[in-house]
Amino acid sequence: NYEHVRKPEWLKVKLNTNKSYNRLKKLMREKNLNTVCEEAKCPNIHECWSERKTATFMILGDTCTRGCRFCAVKTGLPNELDWGEPERVAESVEIMELKHAVVTAVARDDLKDGGAGVFAETVRAIRRKMPGTTVEILPSDMKGDYESLHTLMDSGPDIFNHNVETVRRLTKKVRAIAMYDRSLQLLERVKEIAPNTPTKSSIMVGLGETKEEIIETMDDLRAHHVDIMSIGQYLQPTKKHLNVERYYHPDEFAELKEIALSKGFTHCESGPMVRSSYHADEQVNATSAQ
Ligand code: SF4
Ligand code: SF4
Repeated sequence: NYEHVRKPEWLKVKLNTNKSYNRLKKLMREKNLNTVCEEAKCPNIHECWSERKTATFMILGDTCTRGCRFCAVKTGLPNELDWGEPERVAESVEIMELKHAVVTAVARDDLKDGGAGVFAETVRAIRRKMPGTTVEILPSDMKGDYESLHTLMDSGPDIFNHNVETVRRLTKKVRAIAMYDRSLQLLERVKEIAPNTPTKSSIMVGLGETKEEIIETMDDLRAHHVDIMSIGQYLQPTKKHLNVERYYHPDEFAELKEIALSKGFTHCESGPMVRSSYHADEQVNATSAQ
């Protein structure tokens, strides 16, 4: 019924747009950079940018070759690769004095390496400029291309993050091109390449999954040695995107967190406004015992 899917009180937050937020927004335009924080109108932006000193850069342009049904990023033919982007990201990390930088990218299925070259260079550029900043990467599945994965891993990220986004049954409906098992295999492969690098994956809830299916997803991730899990509420970005089937209560998120920790994840962020990169600064060195 309608009541059931009306946006609950705990999700009605006002965007805290203070001076420093506006300054950083301006910086992004000057450097011609995109952040997920802004694109997704993330409710945590003040806490992340100003207090926790974390931000999520979205590189390789603002146009994605895929069109996932939950995602607000525009779909189409992307721009030319921009090899100046890594340096501009690094400069922004320095100006923002970030402690933890998350680098993600649109899917670039038009490129042979899926954009892994520029991606890896971005990690290196941040390292050169800000050796004390931890770097988390959140790539697409690069269509399961292991050579691209090696290119990425050679840059030595502190956390490897790749989202399965939803439970197995709903993957086809929710994600474009990506496959549930291919994502799991990618995560497992990272552990073979770099056993000490924490791996992480997130799901959105509220897309019509059952509790049993969420628990199965936890088991699948643990079976592929994933260390960290995030669980957040799906919010419909526009009317054209998938409907929210259900809003989970904060108590349900707390219960899911307990279940995840009992499965052996070293960290689990679970809450209505949790995003893949939320509280990521706490998750470095979070490898679980294999
Ligand atoms: Fe940005 Fe992630 Fe923080 Fe949201 S949770 S503001 S996307 S770093
Ligand atoms: Fe959005 Fe990523 Fe899907 Fe592209 S691949 S549509 S950026 S979720």
